[in-house]
Amino acid sequence: MLSNHGKIPLFSHNEQKLNEIEKFERVVKTYTNVKGALAVQSGTAAIHLALRLLEVRSGDNVFCSTLTSIASASPIIYQGAEPVFIDSDPDTWNMSPVALKKALDEAVRNHRLPKAIIVTHLYGYCGHLEKIKDLSQTYQVPVIEDAAHAFGTLCNGEYCGSRGDFGIFSFGVNKLLSTSNGGMLLSGDSRYIRDARHLASQARELHPFHHHQTTGYNYQMSPILAAIGNGELGKVVDKINKKRNVYHYYQKLIAKEELLNLIPVQEGIVPNYWMTVITIDDVSIYQLYQVYLHLMKQNIEVSFIVKPLHRQPVFEGYTYFSHSEHFSVSDQLFHTALCVPSGVNMTGEEQEEVIAQLKHALELVDNSSLFTN
Ligand SMILES: *Cc1c(COP(=O)(O)O)cnc(C)c1O
Repeated sequence: MLSNHGKIPLFSHNEQKLNEIEKFERVVKTYTNVKGALAVQSGTAAIHLALRLLEVRSGDNVFCSTLTSIASASPIIYQGAEPVFIDSDPDTWNMSPVALKKALDEAVRNHRLPKAIIVTHLYGYCGHLEKIKDLSQTYQVPVIEDAAHAFGTLCNGEYCGSRGDFGIFSFGVNKLLSTSNGGMLLSGDSRYIRDARHLASQARELHPFHHHQTTGYNYQMSPILAAIGNGELGKVVDKINKKRNVYHYYQKLIAKEELLNLIPVQEGIVPNYWMTVITIDDVSIYQLYQVYLHLMKQNIEVSFIVKPLHRQPVFEGYTYFSHSEHFSVSDQLFHTALCVPSGVNMTGEEQEEVIAQLKHALELVDNSSLFTN
């Protein structure tokens, strides 16, 4: 037994593992057409690294979509900075260029421009990214694309994640491309990626001993998960095609329903259709909750959309810029929208059942005196 021990090819083993990470980074870089990519442990870690590279620190502001996961904004807090939340616009549900401009103008007046703008492509659908990029250039504030939902989404012929100064993907459990846990940081500036790689590995210097000029993080992706990513990459196109079919069939099913609307697709955008979301006109949040409960009771797994971050108790007191003076688009969406099942293996009959039950739930809610105020 012992004599075998020396034969275990430890080093080639190691190289094999490293190659999985390099391969994963290379394939994602080629696919999205960006110069630099770093595989990391999570999408959150990727955002954190981007903020650290932009030298976001205490006393700084960072603008952030409000209709997004808390993971978009937590790294702002990790850096000791303050988030400023930006509303959605009604036609794309994504960051409103109108609200963003208001926020930037006020920042100019206060001599406090943000260090970055974090833009989420909600549920795989891209918003007015060109307008946001124009504003970013005018005001000289870098854009971080939170493309955690949007792997494979095209915006005017270019992939989401490749359009900003930085882009991030998440490969978390329920994301379109999943490695169980994981993420990636993208940048057209390979110096940023070189520095991020350094920070992600405890900022260890190239010395024969442990040597550090600064503190970093343990953010490197596990090679085992990169290997999973390499396997999963081959399924992305098929998944997106299936998701698109699911979306389109829902579209057909609700075409004649006056009260029901789908998450919109803008001209020039080819989404990955990660989630199908339906809004119901004229419902109150209480009625929406009744609809939700009815569907769950029928074993139809629906969920509320993300609750706007400016409504989260943890972010109470931070500034929020809404799209319109009269109402907040993100709040309105939260009160009227549900994510409906959109798994790649869904059958047409299952989708018909979802819509039938949704309509049935609306009738029940309509007839219930409990929720009419
Ligand atoms: C999932 C997600 C993230 C973070 O990704 P993790 O890999 O879970 O850290 C960031 N932003 C959005 C919008 C997400 O949904």
